[in-house]
Amino acid sequence: AQCTLNIDKASYKGSIPIHTGHFIDGKWCDPKFATILLGSSADVDMAVQAAQKAYKTSWGLKILGSERGRLLNRLADLLERDKDHFSAIESLNIGKPFHFCRTFEIPKAIECLRYFGGWADKNQGKLVPTDETKLAYTRHEPYGVVGQIIPWNFPIPMLAWKIAPALATGNCVVLKPSEIAPLSTMKFAELIEEAGFPPGVVNIVNGYGNVSFDCTGIYYILPSLGHTVGQAITEHPGIAKVAFTGSTAVGRKILEAAAKSNLKSVTLELGGKSPIIVFDDCDLEQTVKWAVNGIFINAGQVCVAGSRIFVQDTIYEAFMREFTPIAAGLAGTAGDPFQPITQHGPQVSQTHFDRVMSYIESGKSEGATVHLGGARHGTEGYFIQPTIFTDCMPDMKIVKEEIFGPVVAIMKFGTETEVIEAANATTYGLACCVFSGDVSRAIRVAHQLENGSAFVNSAMVTEPGAPFGGFKQSGIGREQGEYALATYTQVKAVHVNL
Ligand code: NAD
Repeated sequence: AQCTLNIDKASYKGSIPIHTGHFIDGKWCDPKFATILLGSSADVDMAVQAAQKAYKTSWGLKILGSERGRLLNRLADLLERDKDHFSAIESLNIGKPFHFCRTFEIPKAIECLRYFGGWADKNQGKLVPTDETKLAYTRHEPYGVVGQIIPWNFPIPMLAWKIAPALATGNCVVLKPSEIAPLSTMKFAELIEEAGFPPGVVNIVNGYGNVSFDCTGIYYILPSLGHTVGQAITEHPGIAKVAFTGSTAVGRKILEAAAKSNLKSVTLELGGKSPIIVFDDCDLEQTVKWAVNGIFINAGQVCVAGSRIFVQDTIYEAFMREFTPIAAGLAGTAGDPFQPITQHGPQVSQTHFDRVMSYIESGKSEGATVHLGGARHGTEGYFIQPTIFTDCMPDMKIVKEEIFGPVVAIMKFGTETEVIEAANATTYGLACCVFSGDVSRAIRVAHQLENGSAFVNSAMVTEPGAPFGGFKQSGIGREQGEYALATYTQVKAVHVNL
């Protein structure tokens, strides 16, 4: 890597080229594949000031909603045009299969941008019934500047889920991508510029959440200390609302920081330990397909991953006979994300790989049976074999805690009442799946499960119009759908004396 220092001072004028990599063994060593500037709290401050200015002059209620909608639709068109670039960047940065990004992940983001583009001029208030001496009505007003912090597992969909409703409702944004997967977000910033959003409406600052030096293939340039961009966003008094997606542990810190600073409004999309319930009258072939995807897609690095599967004892053997070979087959597709056959990608980083492996070890030491996998796949990269544990007990770590990897705990159950109780015995409440040929039973059970989303005879298929969020410690508030408009606006009641 190289840069040029341009100096224009009275005592020195000129340009000095300089290497910015390492000098080892007589050679200039470049970073592995990318260089990202690591931001500081001063950068967050600059971004907030730019956003405040844009909000007052060129965004918010200064322009028509239809114009905000037009820009969001333009952004969607540009993302569609460049979907191959984005898919390639994700494959390189995270190791995700290119085909998966191109056909699923990027289209999901495009769909979201268009959905909220459509809402931008429709978020109207209500007329409040009064007697004839008064007029009262509500307005849905934007917060002004919104801080947004996202994880690494689905960078572009997470970005779209955050910015689309915030911008549609008239807010300006200061967003921090994950330090592990920032590249596609930076490419996306180019599209924001090309689409013609006024300067300052969307600001992106790279950096760590809190102080941490856990880098992957990305090399960070450290300009100064105080490089805790996430924390600076949550504490900044110029930010009226913060929307966060990530782990429950960090969500708790965000809530504390927001309370201690200016009592920001907070939306949290957190972790999960989602149950998949399989009744003996289900369509077994379809159920198995959904269940395999439900846990192993994106190598298990999915917040709604169905990481606890409860199978009715009368169908248990048949289920395992079908489920096991399909899961095992995925391992055979692990490898180069640019190969069309690749379905099973790596874990995102060494740290995350180690974390998932330590859960596998804990499952073994706590007495669960490794029915499939249970080890690293191959000798290179961070691939983990699709892993199935059986003979699992409710107090085992692999049953209680979010693993965020290709690891599933499978348990038997007898009755409907018993499985509802077992499925609800968790601090999480993000999603659940129920498979049964008896639709009345499936719906009855879905209603009793304590989760923000319930999937009947399917798994983890989101709709832009359906709200998404968690019960219990899986989150606060909702994204997606009409509910996201409320997430990004505050209601004002106006009372007029006639
Ligand atoms: P993480 O919580 O470690 O980090 C998420 C983001 O928060 C990153 O950008 C990180 O830099 C930032 N951050 C970390 N500490 C911070 C702090 N103190 N203040 C402010 N920001 C801070 O999560 P991750 O490892 O990137 O992602 C995996 C987690 O995300 C899993 O728990 C998963 O379930 C969850 N997730 C949830 C959803 C959902 O919609 N509910 C979606 C995707 C992922």
